[in-house]
Amino acid sequence: MAEQNFDLIVIGAGPGGYVAAIRAAQLGMKVACVEKDKTLGGTCLNIGCIPSKALLDSSEHFAHVKGKLSRHGIVVKDVGLDLGVMLKRKDQVVSGLTQGIAGLFKKNKIVHAHGMGKLVSSTEVEVTKADGSKEKLSAKNIILATGSEPTPLPSAPFDGKRVVSSTEALSFSEIPARLIVVGGGAIGLEMGSVWSRLGSKVTVVEFQDRIVPFADRQASQELLKVLTRQGLEFKLSTKVTQAKVSGKAVQVEVEDASGKKDKLEAEYVLVAIGRRPFSQNLGLKEIGIPQDKAGRVEVDAHFRTKVPNIYAIGDLIRGPMLAHKAEDEGIAAAEIIAGQHGHVNYEAIPNIVYTWPELASVGLNEDECKAKGLTYKVGTFPFIANGRAKAMDEVEGFVKVIADSKTDRLLGMHIVGPRASDMIAEAVMVMEFGGSAEDIARSTHAHPTLAEVVKEAALAVDKRQIHM
Ligand code: FAD
Repeated sequence: MAEQNFDLIVIGAGPGGYVAAIRAAQLGMKVACVEKDKTLGGTCLNIGCIPSKALLDSSEHFAHVKGKLSRHGIVVKDVGLDLGVMLKRKDQVVSGLTQGIAGLFKKNKIVHAHGMGKLVSSTEVEVTKADGSKEKLSAKNIILATGSEPTPLPSAPFDGKRVVSSTEALSFSEIPARLIVVGGGAIGLEMGSVWSRLGSKVTVVEFQDRIVPFADRQASQELLKVLTRQGLEFKLSTKVTQAKVSGKAVQVEVEDASGKKDKLEAEYVLVAIGRRPFSQNLGLKEIGIPQDKAGRVEVDAHFRTKVPNIYAIGDLIRGPMLAHKAEDEGIAAAEIIAGQHGHVNYEAIPNIVYTWPELASVGLNEDECKAKGLTYKVGTFPFIANGRAKAMDEVEGFVKVIADSKTDRLLGMHIVGPRASDMIAEAVMVMEFGGSAEDIARSTHAHPTLAEVVKEAALAVDKRQIHM
């Protein structure tokens, strides 16, 4: 590598790091991005958001052909499944996108330093390459964007073969007859849905009394109902006490809140209880950058660590572990370094579970409103009363709008429904502009569209919905 001195070094090329690198380059900085893996894009592109959505979309097509098309009068005989092709397509989607990031780096003249980055001073990063050789890069500013890794469960430690993380569950070479998913959050439900649609008997074991604990209670109950109807089995308020691999099966012992024990067995156990920040061999301690008890790098409101020219973003710091949150922090941090006023509005970060139907939410849920002592109004409207949803035969779920009782300001929106992930963008915009339920209700929504349910739910806040 010819150039060794940079304005900015970013460590980690996930959605936080690569986006920060591109934004910094746009702002005129000379940038290097250090990435230990062969491909760019981080967890999100390689083993997270993108491959999981590719499999979700493929498996949803399969479920559609098998279960729903006959209701449209379409008769398909001999439906088959070629798992190899499905997995290959997923890998092609991933490689197309990761190569795209490499192209963007080239276009923006970002130097890609392939190797493990370690802080050796406040301005220097040592990069250890795959062959063991080392080189030193220096920069005025450094952004840490090293992301996260799956959290292990002591009672069911990963073995990478039968007790696995989402990474292995994205590439099972066979359809498991039975799959136990530990954790009823987004990743567990998405991967559980994929394999259930393809034919596995899926049992989700969740420690809490509901799935998707971050979600609005009503929305999480609705999703539970729909997924149960789809054939997934749920054991709530239940913990895994032991997992024993024997041959091609795993025996799992569980215990519910009343102390009742049970035994389950499956070909695979997917442990999806959350992710933890990844900062192995990053040299944080050595240069005096503190982390909290959960391992998150501590930063101020401007993403600055204790060392003022070293910043941290994404899954490595506080806040929801989401790709779009990491991206927005990457943009904000690059702009702050350039002397601009980069900012992330944490009140309006959407959160989505890409099951079918999807669960999408932004802002406060009812429990959070109560905990904050807010007085609020609620409007809900079901997809079953919407013309487009009926035409599509996608009538499960609802939109729930939460607005401040006095000011009518939009406090939160929660959607369980088809393409909820796309519809939530409207609520995000309204919240960004400090808008109200009335603003949504007065805006013309094209007919017939699913988005009309959002408008009807906003009208329902003042009990003036039209089609119910
Ligand atoms: P990462 O994407 O984890 O990237 C960090 C990068 O740093 C990695 O490439 C790593 O190799 C590199 N690195 C680490 N240490 C070093 C080092 N010392 N030197 C050099 N390189 C290093 N989020 C969503 O918003 N939507 C979704 O649909 C979604 N689906 C998901 C599905 C799954 C199965 C998983 C696992 C996650 C999903 N996520 C989703 C979460 C999302 O992937 C993360 O929030 C996001 O990738 C975080 O971005 P990041 O840049 O902070 O870190």
